[in-house]
Amino acid sequence: MNASVKALVLRETEYKESSRILTVLSDSLGKLTLVAKGAKRRGSRTAAAAQLLTYSEMSISCSRGRWYLNEAATIEIFPGLRNDLRKLTCGSYFAELLETVGDEDSPDPEILRLGLNCLNALSEGSREDRLVKAVFEMRLMCLAGYEPSLDACAVCGDESENNPFFDISGGVLLCGSCAGGDAFRLCDSSLAALRHVTSCQAQRILSFRLSGEALNRFCYVCEQYVTHHLERHFHILDYLNNLE
Ligand SMILES: [Zn+2]
Repeated sequence: MNASVKALVLRETEYKESSRILTVLSDSLGKLTLVAKGAKRRGSRTAAAAQLLTYSEMSISCSRGRWYLNEAATIEIFPGLRNDLRKLTCGSYFAELLETVGDEDSPDPEILRLGLNCLNALSEGSREDRLVKAVFEMRLMCLAGYEPSLDACAVCGDESENNPFFDISGGVLLCGSCAGGDAFRLCDSSLAALRHVTSCQAQRILSFRLSGEALNRFCYVCEQYVTHHLERHFHILDYLNNLE
């Protein structure tokens, strides 16, 4: 069986002398593991595409239950990530999250699109890196089925948004009277940012600005939300936070 896919490389590992094994997120076949034979050889037709965080048009084939990469043409390499350790680490963290939520048999074009948009923003530096990271984290959680409920206090239904709190483990908004000890205090701007990212159209996810304490709150909530709900510790996140 042969197929043509557009795919982003999420992980690459060396395999035998001259090959690589790639984990990719593809547009039409979801998450795939591919053998890229000879990809480490100079002049190979797949070498450029077989690199971490590269998006390419790939011609692949399946033989005895295993997928092989035959040819590839790179579409986007996100050049801004290549010479900046912090951006590259952040992009690699995005890749780990995409690998965690990506499904082997069910393609999700929205998740791939989110990944590409955020890697592009990171590469171009059009927004603060930590804002891009937080937006990616929260929107990805929504697409993966963990959308928080932010309309009104989950306990009493109060919609006045006076003194809002966010319950990270419950994924709900609480008012000041109903919030318990673990709820995290938001502010008007951080709540507005959360609402925007969880409900806007895909092309508008980064069209807002946030700074100061509101940005700190937004970033904190998004990161905690991911690690709590995916129930995983990401070592690369420790590494990234130590670079900050
Ligand atoms: Zn309440």
